[in-house]
Amino acid sequence: MLIVMNRDATEEQVNHVIRTVEFHGYTAHPIPGGDRVSIGVLYNQGAVDDALFRSLDGVKETIPVTKPYKLVSREFHPVDTIVRVGDVVIGGDRLAIIGGPCAVESEEQVMIIAERVKKAGGDLFRGGAFKPRTSPYAFHGLGEEGLKILAKARDAFGLPIVTEVMDLDCFDMVEHYADIIQIGTRNMQNFSLLRRAGHAKKPILLKRGMSATVDEWLMAAEYIVAEGNPDVILCERGVRTFVKHSRNTLDLSAIPVVRRESHLPVIVDPSHAAGYRDQVMPLARAAAALSAHGLMIEVHHAPETARCDGGQALLPDQFETLCRQLRAIFEVSTGSSKAG
Ligand code: PEP
Ligand code: MN
Repeated sequence: MLIVMNRDATEEQVNHVIRTVEFHGYTAHPIPGGDRVSIGVLYNQGAVDDALFRSLDGVKETIPVTKPYKLVSREFHPVDTIVRVGDVVIGGDRLAIIGGPCAVESEEQVMIIAERVKKAGGDLFRGGAFKPRTSPYAFHGLGEEGLKILAKARDAFGLPIVTEVMDLDCFDMVEHYADIIQIGTRNMQNFSLLRRAGHAKKPILLKRGMSATVDEWLMAAEYIVAEGNPDVILCERGVRTFVKHSRNTLDLSAIPVVRRESHLPVIVDPSHAAGYRDQVMPLARAAAALSAHGLMIEVHHAPETARCDGGQALLPDQFETLCRQLRAIFEVSTGSSKAG
């Protein structure tokens, strides 16, 4: 961290800042400038809390230099993390496509959609058995019955299952059935859930909090990796903004930033970002053009009857067209011939 002093800061104020830096166990390195002094904070392990210094007399601003995360940073681990689930590869130069309904509604519904996801060339199947809903009166999922239905679809079509864990109470159960455990946007900073995910034997798909910065998102991933689970897949799903034309705003710029800062795979969920079916395909194509490592897309064969998020679900034919487009775009954007 760099502590920049006011131009009229007194020598006593500069010395006080230096003493405070040293008091906290760091080395202070004063850098005299043309018209002001700056003080470098050196030999810190991890990020320095700027609140310790920014209110001291004579301080103009503090500029962070070290990132707060370590294990998930590319600086610490330059090589891309590749997550493998059976034959499916997520990360590196591969594009993984996850398709399926928002919620598991019935065995018949899941089997119809899973068959179409498989036929379209999807790699994994999604569906929520525990649904976080804004209203306590809405459909909250079928629970364990839903997980059993997902397991049947996996057996029938050979598609690994991605499903959400909502709390610690259902963690063991979800871990038992899922191939990839999803932590949703509302739980991105549920630190006890993150720590438990760090002890899971399955990969974790960590969605970005709807108001989280990229640093906060990576710090949430750091919790999981720090507890011993290296298999974290990041998922951008849109952030809350002032616009009304979409449910959220897909922060596509986060993709190159995360790819640069972290070695973890990063995928995009355009469905929850858009909230409207007609926006999902263009946003998905844009994500593939930015070399996102995958897409997670809601698909429903009869969206008008869906118990959750029908308005943003693609029809199976649309999903099939999109899968073809995504693989072609990803190949161009990454120069990889392994888009599939
Ligand atoms: C979901 O993927 O089903 C979901 C609830 O997403 P999010 O946590 O991004 O809202
Ligand atoms: Mn949904």
